[in-house]
This record gives sequence, structure tokens and C-alpha cells, in this order.
Amino acid sequence: MTESPLAPSWLSYPSDTSYLNPVMYSNGTTRQVSGEVTIGTVPVSELAATYGTPLLVVDEDDFRARARGFVEGFNRAFDSLCGGVDVYYASKSLLTVQVARWVAEEGLNMDVASGGELAIALRAGFDPAKIGLHGNNKSDQELTRALQTGVGRIVVDSLSEIYRLAALAESAGVSAPVMLRLTTGVHASTHSYIATAHEDQKFGLSMIPAPGEERSAAEQAVLAVAEHPHLRYLGLHSHIGSQIFEADGFTAAADRMLNFIAALQTQHGITTAELDLGGGYGIAYTEADRPRAPEDIADSLAEGIRATLQSLTIDCPRISIEPGRAISGPAGSTLYRVGTTKTVWVDDPTGADQPVPRRYVAVDGGMSDNPRPVLYDADYSATLASRVSQADPVLTRIVGKHCESGDIVVRDTYQPEDLDDQDLVLVPATGAYCHVMSSNYNALLRPAVVAISGGSARLIIRRETDQDLFAREV
Ligand SMILES: *Cc1c(COP(=O)(O)O)cnc(C)c1O
Repeated sequence: MTESPLAPSWLSYPSDTSYLNPVMYSNGTTRQVSGEVTIGTVPVSELAATYGTPLLVVDEDDFRARARGFVEGFNRAFDSLCGGVDVYYASKSLLTVQVARWVAEEGLNMDVASGGELAIALRAGFDPAKIGLHGNNKSDQELTRALQTGVGRIVVDSLSEIYRLAALAESAGVSAPVMLRLTTGVHASTHSYIATAHEDQKFGLSMIPAPGEERSAAEQAVLAVAEHPHLRYLGLHSHIGSQIFEADGFTAAADRMLNFIAALQTQHGITTAELDLGGGYGIAYTEADRPRAPEDIADSLAEGIRATLQSLTIDCPRISIEPGRAISGPAGSTLYRVGTTKTVWVDDPTGADQPVPRRYVAVDGGMSDNPRPVLYDADYSATLASRVSQADPVLTRIVGKHCESGDIVVRDTYQPEDLDDQDLVLVPATGAYCHVMSSNYNALLRPAVVAISGGSARLIIRRETDQDLFAREV
């Protein structure tokens, strides 16, 4: 067997299918001499036997280490600049009460994007002063709850939200702490960014004046917040995208924001105390992804900000960042059990006469526990985790059990030819945007979530039962 002409160009033909690329798997994931994979020394067969499959396994030690990595890396880089950095964990990537406690214990702040996420954070006892509330269409109820509980920052997304929030703050007899989310025109994804106007999207206040208007929505918003007695202007926010590997997009956005901050200072005498540069730090879903360490990105970003500040006459505002997937993603992996398999023969895309094989391996979950392949064409990787095999690697597509042909778990991977019924497959980098996006499609029961720490596993979210399916029936 050899390389398949159906394989994407980034996928290399493995010399050893048992190899676990450390850039994709959590720090605690290793293969024992027996051939079985362990996570934090717990064998996958034991996890499957105790908790069932599919199972989201979160390596808590790895999660905590990545959280600390951002705090330490960014604070070191910004030590002599801007007085340090606050790290807000983007809870939308993975949130349970226990996860919120890990975030608190590691000293991070937390972003929530809805009343529900806020409720989970508060249930965990998270200090509301260290919570930021996001959302482009927050309800009055969500804003009121944030005001009543003393949430530290409300990231306002539009001009209309300002007046709604001001009225609610006034009736609650408080002053609302406001950050303003701006559209910088910088949009970054993976290895490149575009700095032309990325205006045409739902988030944020535009920095470009509308035709016939003197002031941009961003400038109008700052003025409105700064002069309102029930609003407290903290600063500005920008989030430029996701799965970003280089610092240049963040640096370009910071440059635009700092110039805007300097203009606010000179034209209106308004001081901006805080600048949030958002999240989106990339992770490795496949061998083709090469994420940089947080401290490297921090160094590049600090260098860019230092250069911008040299041409301006403002003090650097306090910087904050909002990593989500870069903390939760690599810490999690999903364990599935294989059911059926088949091989199909398809036309050779290079035009050769002979059809070429693609192996299909169906597992016991799919788009209900990981909708990202369906939603974003996201690529993932996998390994045969319950044993090793000497069989030849063949191009394999791992699919789910849903009634959709797009129900793909791993689009392209080389797996041993004898991967079969009852084998356990581990898909890495599923800590982010899988549990939180899971559904009951086809009335599948959502998987349990297990945390592994100090060599032992414990349940943090139980598997659903049929009773959960009936729970909301009236
Ligand atoms: C989603 C989001 C994040 C986190 O993105 P990641 O890609 O998970 O790092 C941070 N900030 C805001 C405003 C977001 O919407």
C-alpha cells in the first residue's frame, strides 16, 4: 500500500500509525508499551468501560498548564510595557461548573457571552468582578443580571445597546462598567490577515464614519458612554478572528486601536484605561497546523505595541486577551468505539484507469458531539487507541452514526487497514467547541465529560439518559 491520490496534500503517509504527535494530543496522552493509549495514566479501555463511549476526556492538568502558559507568557512579555496583561478565558469554548473553577483557581478572568454562561460561572462561585459579558444582542434580562451581580465589564456591541444599558443601570441605581467592541477592519484567520474593511459583519462598532456623517459609530459610542452618568468608560475591545497562528493580525488591530485611543485623547480629552485584543489563538487539529507558543505570540505583539506607542503620546492602556480554544481545545479528546466499516472504490482524481479505495469507519457518535466538521469543514485527526496494528495504513474517513452523509468526524486520515468493530478511536483537540455545541440530533444522548487529573479520572458531566430526552416534554 502507498499514498492515496484521494488524500489532501497536507496529509503525510505515516511510517508508524501508532505515533501520537505531541502538538495535537494533550500532555498527559501517551501510548504504553502494551500499545494502548493512556490519558493521565488512565487506559482508554478503562475509560470506555467505566463511562461508556462516546466520551469527552478533558486532561485537567493540561488545561490548567495552558491557562497558566497564557498568564505567564503574556505577563512576561508585557512586564515593562502597559503594566501586564489580564487573561480572560473565553468560556464559550468549554464551560462546565468545574471548568469554571479551574479557570478561577489558575487566576484567570472569564468571558461569558450569554445569561446561561453567566449563570454557570456564578454557580461555580466565579468572582463577578473578573467576568466580562459579551454578545451582540444581549437581552434586558442578561444586562440586568450582569448589573445586579456586579460583572466587571460589559462589552457593548452597538449604539442602541448603550442607551438600553444606561436606562437599566439608572433604574438599578448603579453605574455600568463599559468596554466598547470595535470593528477594526482587520480580519485574521490561520496564517494571514486582511486589513481592508471587514465591515460587513454583525459584530462591533464601525471605526469608519457613515456617508454624510462626521463621526464613526465607534467615536459616537465613546462620547456617549464617557458623558453618561450611569456608564463608566473602561476601554475598547477588538476580536479579529479564530484559529490564528501569527501575531501580525493582532499587531495590526492593536495599532489601529492605539491610534484611535490617541485621537480620543487629543480631540476629546478622553482617557482609555483598557484595551482588549480578543482571542483566536490557533491550535493543532491536524499535523498541518503549527501553532506558536503563547509566549512567542506575546513577544511579537509586545514588540508591535511598543513600536506603535513610540509614535504616540499616550500611556499604554492595560491590555487584556481572550483565549478560548488554545486553553480548552488541546486538553480535550473524544473517545469513540468503532462499529461498522466498509471500503468504497472511487475514480482516481489523477485520471488513472483504476479506481482507488477509501475506507469508511463508523463510530458511535458524530455531528451531535462534534458539529465542527459539518459547520466549518473543520479537519481533525485520530488514532487507534486501544491497541497498535502492524497493518498497512489506508486512507480512511471516520464518520458518525447520524442520518446525514455530511456526518463526518475525521475527513481524511491514514489508519491501519484492520481498524475494525470494537476498536477504540481517539480524536484529539476536541476540548473546544464540541461539548458546548453538542446536540440531541437523532435523539442521541449527549456524551459524558470526564476530567483527568493526578492520574485519576472523575465524571464532571454525566451521560444523558432517555429521561433527559423526555425532560422538557409537556
Ligand atoms: C470566540 C471568542 C473568543 C475566543 O476565540 P478562540 O478562537 O476560542 O480563542 C474570544 N473573544 C471573543 C469576543 C469571542 O467571540
